[in-house]
Amino acid sequence: MITNIEKHKYALKWYGNDAQMLMLVEEMAELTKEIMKTFRKGITPEVVQKLREEMADVQNCLIPLMIITETAPTDIEAIMQEKMLRTMERIAEDQAKNKGNVETLLQTIIKKQGGKL
Ligand SMILES: [Mg+2]
Repeated sequence: MITNIEKHKYALKWYGNDAQMLMLVEEMAELTKEIMKTFRKGITPEVVQKLREEMADVQNCLIPLMIITETAPTDIEAIMQEKMLRTMERIAEDQAKNKGNVETLLQTIIKKQGGKL
């Protein structure tokens, strides 16, 4: 049975790198358009369905880019984790500056995890 990644490699060979990257740009624009609709229409079931379709399109089009750039999913996951760590640090810094005005990040995490770290 042909795997999903083999299908992407076949499509990439058939259409070429440029066409696949242009398709990614087009799909990102479509996702952007659907995100913009949430501000006008709110999060309705129809909007959510369209968002899901466009998120799937973008994720499908990211795979050829990962093949072209020889990027493994684990490479992306490691960078995502690093960036989320930085985001958590920035939130903690913001909260330290506004101490007393907002709940601290640590308190929020503890609360969400049922009172334990
Ligand atoms: Mg689309």
